[in-house]
Amino acid sequence: MDVVVDHRQGDAHRQDGHSGERNCGIADEACVIISVAGAFRKGKSFLLNCFLEYLYNLQKSQQADVPMEWLMDDCQLHGFHWRSGTKRDTIGIWMWGEPIMIESASGENIAMDTQGTFDNNSTYQQCMTIFALSTLISSCQIYNLVDNIQEDNLQHLSLFVEYGRMALRDVGDFGKPFQTLCFCVRDFKSPEEYDYGQFGGKRYLDSVLEIRDDQPEELRSVREHLMECFNDIICFLMPHPGHRVAERQSFRGHAKDMRPVFREEVRRIVPAMCDPENLKPKSVNGKTLTCRKMIQYIKEYVAHFDG
Ligand code: GDP
Ligand code: MG
Repeated sequence: MDVVVDHRQGDAHRQDGHSGERNCGIADEACVIISVAGAFRKGKSFLLNCFLEYLYNLQKSQQADVPMEWLMDDCQLHGFHWRSGTKRDTIGIWMWGEPIMIESASGENIAMDTQGTFDNNSTYQQCMTIFALSTLISSCQIYNLVDNIQEDNLQHLSLFVEYGRMALRDVGDFGKPFQTLCFCVRDFKSPEEYDYGQFGGKRYLDSVLEIRDDQPEELRSVREHLMECFNDIICFLMPHPGHRVAERQSFRGHAKDMRPVFREEVRRIVPAMCDPENLKPKSVNGKTLTCRKMIQYIKEYVAHFDG
């Protein structure tokens, strides 16, 4: 099982003149790790590039003390590789190779991309491992789904998460094992019922996760299990990005090619997901981890799943 650190990031994001040298000395700092997981070809890498665009611009505005601007007309998203078509692109887990230093209570951010669950080339075991490992490592696991949250999505999630929880036994398991779970529903089609974004997402999620006495036991226990495993569960609803983004092979990440309502939502959703209120530094058993400790844990988890 490999966790690949993506060192290709230097080029375009470094227009601000910063170099990797700044990253020395972070070993004792706390970090926030954001992960996006879910089925393949559903815009995970694309979403992470929106995060990178936001976080790098935030970093720049904080360091130069200038107003924040991002996703403007001339913006071209880049970072994690993404592609149109039907074949999977990301394999295993890819982690952005450079921490993005954000001045807030929450420390620096590192984004992480995972292979699609259930592509045609992986076994169920591999998908489960990728999902479990990325959940273990991240402070916010984004579960990327299309259309809506279905019962089998919850069931798989519950299984994968339990598989991850087993790895935590080695480090002493008490309290809720994981931090934030964020459902991100793409191409959401009922904005008249539930508004796009965070607030509609909350109402929608409440309806999905509701536990009722008249529910079959199986449905209830999946919901209870998820609530037991995560400190916070949140949800964001996103509109369709428009045919240029979704269907054109020629799409190169230009913000101006996004459908306006989508771009507007991205501009709201991404900062909300990066809100220090939602994103807490990575902790295990209630203790904040330093980057040094984090690396140690990643090695231990990988060894656990390899074993
Ligand atoms: P991944 O395999 O989940 O990482 O998906 P990618 O990020 O590589 O994107 C796959 C394709 O979906 C690309 O053509 C993207 O431009 C497109 N895409 C990105 N976001 C969305 C979205 O919200 N909805 C739809 N329908 N397509 C999207
Ligand atoms: Mg991808």
